[in-house]
Order: sequence, then structure tokens, then C-alpha cells
Amino acid sequence: MKTSIRRIQEHLGVEADGIIGVQTLRAISRALGVQEVPIWPSQSRVRQGNSIFGPPGSQDSLVSLIPAYQLYFEGKPVRSIRVHKLIAAHVKAALEEVLAHYGLPEIQRLGLDQYGGSYNYRPTQSGKSLSMHAWGIALDFAPRNNAYALKSPRATLSHPDCETWWQIWERHGAVSLGRQRNYDWMHLQFASLE
Ligand SMILES: [Zn+2]
Repeated sequence: MKTSIRRIQEHLGVEADGIIGVQTLRAISRALGVQEVPIWPSQSRVRQGNSIFGPPGSQDSLVSLIPAYQLYFEGKPVRSIRVHKLIAAHVKAALEEVLAHYGLPEIQRLGLDQYGGSYNYRPTQSGKSLSMHAWGIALDFAPRNNAYALKSPRATLSHPDCETWWQIWERHGAVSLGRQRNYDWMHLQFASLE
């Protein structure tokens, strides 16, 4: 058994130690074209302040990243976006995948370059608790045509041509409030809704 695992590892180009660890699993997933979907904490866990994302508003947890394509905030080009360091690689990769799939003209047509913000120490729309934005684990896109109360099909991000947009984010474990609750279609977050 050990010998055959070593042979598979040699074939995959990872260290042939005969043990199926994280590196080997990742290499197998890659070879099979299966992406592992990360599981993020629930938003109630996040709000307790002791999840992997730590307390809200922690400046040490935030990093700036340069998106794969030009984003605009209220019509002005955005140089970088600020998110929690634990989701930064996922945000970066997701936007690269969006660019590769749609291309710039389609991104612009769908408003996927219209950025509504990420890190922001603020409560939710209802005002009862802190928004996931306060941890830098939520992002808003195409806010003008996807206002908080706008439902499908009026919210443009609910349209079929945005299906791949959401599948890309969901492969990184992000959650769409629009797809799950049919409001706030601009919003996605790296925390489940329980
Ligand atoms: Zn939001």
C-alpha cells in the first residue's frame, strides 16, 4: 500500500513519503480538477469575536490587494482593496477567475467592476449587529443595480449571466445573501449565514 502511495506521489511531483497529507491531497485534487471548497466560520461565530477572523476592526488582520482588473468605487478607479488577510488569496484568485471567464467588456457590461467596498467598521443595515464588513470578510459589487431591498429579477446580479460570477465566489467558500435570502444582491461574505 505504502509503495503505491509513493508511486502516486512521484507521479504528482510531491514528496514521496508514503503518507497522504495535505500536500498530497491538494495535488490529487488539482490532478482531478476538483477544487476543495474552504469552509468558513458562521457569522454568529464571527460576531462572538473568537473565530479565526479575530475581533472586529483589527487593523493588523487587514491587507491591501491589487485586483486582477480595474475596479471603480463611485466612478473613481480603485488602487487596492482592503480585506482580512485570511481571505485575501481567495479574493485575489476569484477576481482572476472572473477576468479569465468573462473578459473585460463583459465584466463592464455586467457591472462586475463596480465595487461597493469591503472593510468598513459598521453595523448591518438593520443596525442590530456588526456587519461582516467590520472584519473585512465581506465585499459589495455592482451596488447601484443591486440595492439592499432589490429582489430577483430586478437585482442585476440575480440574472442568469451572473451565474458563473457566483459559482466562482462559492468555490472559494463565499456566500451570497442574494442567492440565499434574495436581498442585498451586491453583498458576498466569507462566513455562512447560521
Ligand atoms: Zn455588503
